[in-house]
Amino acid sequence: MGLLTSQIDRDFDGGIYLAPLGEIPAPDHIGSVDYDGNLYLPLTIDGSTEMEVVVTAGQQVPRGTLLARGGGYCLYAPRPGVVKGETAPGDAGIWAAGKTEQKALVLEQFSAISARDYVGKSKSVYKVSAEEIEQAKDEIRSANERRGLKQRRTVWDKIERAGIVTTEGARPLAAWLKELSHNEIKVVVANATPLEATLNGCLAILARWPEQVFTGLAILKTFLQADEAIMAYPHGFNINMTSAQEWEVKCVAVSEKYPQGRSGSVLRTLKKQKQLGRRGVRQDQAVVFEIQLLRQVERAVLTGEMPTERVITISGDGVKRPGHFLVPLGLPLQELLTRAGIYQDVACVAEGSSLAGKAIDAQKAVVTQTSESYTVVRRVKRDQPHNCVRCGWCIADCPSGIDPMRLFKLAQSRQYHRTRQLSIDACVECGICSYICPSHLPIMEQIRTAKEILRNDKNINSVINDA
Ligand code: SF4
Ligand code: SF4
Repeated sequence: MGLLTSQIDRDFDGGIYLAPLGEIPAPDHIGSVDYDGNLYLPLTIDGSTEMEVVVTAGQQVPRGTLLARGGGYCLYAPRPGVVKGETAPGDAGIWAAGKTEQKALVLEQFSAISARDYVGKSKSVYKVSAEEIEQAKDEIRSANERRGLKQRRTVWDKIERAGIVTTEGARPLAAWLKELSHNEIKVVVANATPLEATLNGCLAILARWPEQVFTGLAILKTFLQADEAIMAYPHGFNINMTSAQEWEVKCVAVSEKYPQGRSGSVLRTLKKQKQLGRRGVRQDQAVVFEIQLLRQVERAVLTGEMPTERVITISGDGVKRPGHFLVPLGLPLQELLTRAGIYQDVACVAEGSSLAGKAIDAQKAVVTQTSESYTVVRRVKRDQPHNCVRCGWCIADCPSGIDPMRLFKLAQSRQYHRTRQLSIDACVECGICSYICPSHLPIMEQIRTAKEILRNDKNINSVINDA
């Protein structure tokens, strides 16, 4: 179930205004967490592809060492340390994604002092001078003008080597870019619209590293040979225009209605505001990237830095000090929750937003390459579901323009193979249908389950392919 299912006033015009759950984290501060314990690095990012470990137990590794790779995914050591080996589902200290336990590689950290010594002796992947970065930027600029293919190949190789992963869909960015390069992409969009008011980590990243984010966007614009780059941000945010002008990025203020933070919704809004190119650009000719991913692209391409850390937002009425934290991958979530001052009496910790987040076992969760935010909730409102009254609200308000009611019914009766005909894949799992339904039906939850089953069940997929 969504965490806050209830009927709301129906004033839907491309989204809803959600009341913030708890205090809004300061968008200009990113804290850190002192932690010398073991890191638990999941070997599966998308829930099915398992990376192959390329180090051995007992091996000492400097920061940035490749630990595992496979299926387009890569895992690098976030800290210097000693490889302890793999944990299997059921072991103590195993991480969990949602409710599914996965295999993880355990990295024992050196103590703070010995870690510094070790890094000093090891080959660092971060020693890139300011001049070298400027030179690389110039190359990107001239490649952008010439649309040089040689540069594109280099950029792609660096992104592939870094194993950057998208948060929405947990896909390797390199594979996605390969697909996109077969299409005619005219506009690249950076989406700095918070998914919910409290989940404003994208703004914190943009405020702290504007140059890196804008450069990352320019790199992807160059790679995709797009005509235009847009930064979509909420009204009132103080955007860094110097970086925007340096890379000729158009900054467009958009409304903060939920689910604006989802890529499909921000594209629809930009289209409505007539911002997608002068002659109009089709939706499939525009592509949206997350802010954190753009910073990773800039790091990977210009400095060779691997994505071994993430900015995570902890918010909700279940923590005393909501905020953003820059932490290494593999950090147990509990460390972060303690730092944010979690109350004793919380009802639920959800990965993602209060409306559409997935409830998780916070004792077992760790920060992964797709982690972004956690919402800690003190009370969960679950109304008793009734029969559908055919009001049609879910259909009218679905931002993806699909039929949630029919999808819900098909999923409930396990006719999963028929849901593809109703474009189930277009569902962005925003939870608006569940939120708005006067019968309190768990519509999104059923659709999400159906999507997972469709993704994982080979038998169903063969039924679909044979049809
Ligand atoms: S069907 Fe999907 S996209 Fe449409 S309102 Fe429900 S959760 Fe959102
Ligand atoms: S599922 Fe809920 S919102 Fe949709 S038509 Fe039925 S009662 Fe209305």
